[in-house]
This record gives sequence, structure tokens and C-alpha cells, in this order.
Amino acid sequence: MAREKLALVGIGKIATDQHVPALADSPDWELAATVSRHGTVSGVEAFTDIGDMLAARPGIGTVSLCLPPVPRFAAAQAVLRAGRNLMLEKPPGATLAEVHALHDLARAHGVSIFATWHSRMAHAVGAAKRWLAGRSIHEGRIIWREDVRKWHPGQDWIFEAGGMGVFDPGINALSILTEILPAPVHLTGAELDFPANRQAPIAARLDLSGGISADFDFRQEGPQTWDMEFATDAGLMALRMGGNILEIDGQRAEGQDSIMGEYPALYARMAELVRGVASDMDLSPMVLVADAFTLGRRNIVETFEF
Ligand code: NAP
Repeated sequence: MAREKLALVGIGKIATDQHVPALADSPDWELAATVSRHGTVSGVEAFTDIGDMLAARPGIGTVSLCLPPVPRFAAAQAVLRAGRNLMLEKPPGATLAEVHALHDLARAHGVSIFATWHSRMAHAVGAAKRWLAGRSIHEGRIIWREDVRKWHPGQDWIFEAGGMGVFDPGINALSILTEILPAPVHLTGAELDFPANRQAPIAARLDLSGGISADFDFRQEGPQTWDMEFATDAGLMALRMGGNILEIDGQRAEGQDSIMGEYPALYARMAELVRGVASDMDLSPMVLVADAFTLGRRNIVETFEF
């Protein structure tokens, strides 16, 4: 079957690291154009304005947005109003209201919209979900600690209002949590640490219903930690390496150390949605983050510079 044409918008770190390689190997998609003020992909037609691309290339039926969350809404609206399918990097927008508005717009235009959560595609997430089904969780603990200078070098937007700070990676943990738990959770308390010179938190500690806690920190040097552990009626279950390794009672049960399968799986899912004229807009990870900003106590901590 011929591959469908897709345009990629915001050619920066994640587009280059993950989207472009995933599209190059995709049986479903052909990267037919890019839109970015500075970034390009070798051999692919490049535009700097999304309106120009949508007008010039009516044959491109799907657009994938890799912009940071704050500048994304206007581009997303333009795509949907032009009757094209839309795929959104995580988090799907800067606010819940704008993402609901995009979902409504997609429905009105009869196109597909997909709020992606790449961490849900990690190797062991499906196995963890199956293992937890029907079990009782007594307690759960998420530890998501990474070095912002290593993973987001110079990305000042991440510490601006709407950039989400440490929730940019933390929402990945919450996307896994909300996928694997047998029942929904909600936030009951939070404490957020804001650097004195920034508008978004550098660390956060969350309490969720069901005895689940989360510890997010952007200041971890040395080994990085993306783990979650659950005490259940059937023993201890742990997901390590960002959802890629499942351990039961300390023994590896499933998984691989690589994250390279996540984006090919997202693009395969997008192809499925487009073929079925369906959408996938689970906003539960973003609700937990929004509630942490609503309910959280604020601490001012040491200033931060990249
Ligand atoms: P990035 O490299 O800083 O930004 C992507 C591109 O967006 C930039 O190269 C820039 O392209 C464009 N852009 C940046 N700010 C803009 C603005 N204010 N207005 C218009 N365009 C702007 O960011 P990223 O790391 O790729 O992250 C993008 C999204 O992917 C975020 O939502 C992030 O959470 C998600 N993500 C990132 C990672 C990661 O490891 N970095 C992993 C998974 C998901 P031009 O200057 O060429 O226009």
C-alpha cells in the first residue's frame, strides 16, 4: 500500500532524535514536508510557515507537531481547519481547555487527532498493565529524576510559564501510571520547587489516591532514575528504565534496555487511527499535572541557569 504523506512541524531535538528516524522506517508514512523556522531534514521540502505548507501541499493529509507546548495551539488549529489529521507530541498543549478545543475542532472537521504519550509505548508497559489487572495495590512510588542540562540543553522554554518544568519528563511517568493502573487515580497533594529566577518547577513531590507518591527532580547528575514500584497483594512489581523493564519480586520478567521502539509504535497507532477515522485523546496524565499546579504548595529554591 502507498505510504500516506505527512508533514513534521518544529524540527528540533525530538523531531531529529526520534520522529525523523521513525518516519524513515515507517511502512505507513512518507515524510513529505517540514515546517520550521530554522530546522530542516535533508532531502525533504522545507517550509518556514505552516499556512504556506498547508496551502501549497493539499496532498499532505496528516501533520505531526513537535513544537514546545505553548506555541503549538495556533499551528494545531491551522492544521485542523485545513481538514488534515493531527498528531501531537506530549504534552498535547499548554492548557487542558485548548486541547479540548482541538478535539472539538477535529470532530467538526471529521479528521483524526492523537495526543501521543511516547512512554506508554515502552517495552514493558503492556506487560505491567496485564500483571496489575485484577490485583490490589497497597502502595506505589514513582521516582523520576533526570538531569535537565543533559536532556534539554539550553531549552529555556521548559522553565517558562506553560513549559511545565520538571513535569515535562514527569508527565511521562504519569502517562505510564494512568495506563497501567486497574483504576483511575487523582491528586491529593503536591509540593513544587520553583527556582527563584524561573516560572516552572525544577522538582515536585506528588501524593495521589491509593497510596501512590511521585518524586520528580530535574537536578539529578550521574545515573538517571525513571522507576516506579508497587506493593501488591501478589508481591512487588517494578517498572524501571522509563517503562522498559518489568521486575516481579526483584527478578526481570520482561523488557529491553532500549527506547527506540516508542516512536515507530506511535506512528503505527496514528496510521490505525487515520484508517479508522478515529481519535485518541486521553488527557488523564495532563489532568494530574494541572491539578498539581492548582493544589500544590510552592517553595522558592536556588536559581537555575543552563
Ligand atoms: P525544541 O528542540 O526546543 O523545540 C522544537 C522546535 O520547535 C525548535 O527547534 C523550533 O524550531 C520550534 N520552536 C521552539 N520554540 C518555538 C516557539 N516559541 N515558536 C515556534 N516554534 C518554536 O524542543 P524538543 O525537545 O524537540 O521538544 C518539543 C516537544 O517534544 C515538547 O513538547 C517536549 O515535551 C516533547 N518531547 C521532547 C523530548 C526530548 O527529549 N527533548 C522527548 C519527548 C518529547 P524552529 O526554530 O526551526 O522553528
